[in-house]
Amino acid sequence: MKKVHNFTAGPCILPQQAIDNAIEALKDFKGTGVPVISISHRTKEWESVMDECRTLWRELLNIPEDYEILFLGGGASMGFLYVAMNFLENKAAYLETGVWAKKALKEAKGLGSAYAVASSADTVFNYIPKDYEIPADVDYFHITTNNTIYGTEIHEDMDSPVPLIADMSSDIMSRPVDVSKYAMIYGGAQKNVGPAGVTFFIVKKDLLGKVSRYIPTMLDLRTHIDGASMFNTPPVFSIFVMNETLKWLKGIGGVEAIHKINREKAQLLYAEIDRNPLFKGTAAVEDRSIMNVCFVMAEGYESLQDEFMAFAKERGMTGIKGHRSVGGFRASIYNACPKESVEALVACMQEFEQLHK
Ligand SMILES: *Cc1c(COP(=O)(O)O)cnc(C)c1O
Repeated sequence: MKKVHNFTAGPCILPQQAIDNAIEALKDFKGTGVPVISISHRTKEWESVMDECRTLWRELLNIPEDYEILFLGGGASMGFLYVAMNFLENKAAYLETGVWAKKALKEAKGLGSAYAVASSADTVFNYIPKDYEIPADVDYFHITTNNTIYGTEIHEDMDSPVPLIADMSSDIMSRPVDVSKYAMIYGGAQKNVGPAGVTFFIVKKDLLGKVSRYIPTMLDLRTHIDGASMFNTPPVFSIFVMNETLKWLKGIGGVEAIHKINREKAQLLYAEIDRNPLFKGTAAVEDRSIMNVCFVMAEGYESLQDEFMAFAKERGMTGIKGHRSVGGFRASIYNACPKESVEALVACMQEFEQLHK
């Protein structure tokens, strides 16, 4: 197979161990003689995967007992609707830090009163607004902790006077999180914890059931709590691979260990972007994401963009094109992205500099 350095934003790179174990399970799931994609989800072999996966989530993120962990379909985009359906009664506040945050807000506006408390839209979302106060009169405050498209990240778990809800699609399991500060954390698995098809929810159970609207059965989080994420057929294969990914993460030392590695990888790449006269970073330095590193050609070198893209591709870099709404480059360096890939990208930028200075 062709050797590449994969910096794709999502669906993302996954640990080889998880992929190898998935291939084995596609042939024979736990010695049942049945492929994992053809096993009934009502068997004890499958239930043991669900249990193991929930336990890994709880251990890795130190999730308190009064929080439920759900694995559902629909993606984070359906999560936007789950949030509003289950938590919005009178009014909700959102921090508008990008396109995903805007889409989350849109779903809430469709169901009631919701607004952006602060926004960084004025400068194409290249920073996290700080000059705002979380209103005390709302049902919840919604944040997007990592803005996948713009490479900005909220690095700290904030204190909030109202229930705090976070879309952590693209930085979940990249660092330790104080779950007790959140009413709910949710996201699509495909950025950092598994393949597309499964959406995770970590929800403080006693905050549910406080809205007066009729909630359709499938959109009511209590349905899925009662059904232990198996009210209907769960995304079996995606959950299997997520479980294998978390086993890998536990094996290398969990979120504290990976946080250290992630910071090292990010520092390496940002240092090169800051040093190399041909490139410049786009996100405000204090808000730089350790998951998605966004950069462009520096002033005077703009015409070299396509050439660098081709140059990097020849050297095995894949997925470094920036999101279509911002242009330039984006290297997504999620948990499973090895340090060698970041080193290879840095070497490639240096080689390109030699050609052009
Ligand atoms: C990718 C992404 C989404 C959308 O996820 P889907 O699972 O495709 O709906 C939402 N929020 C963030 C922060 C993302 O990175």
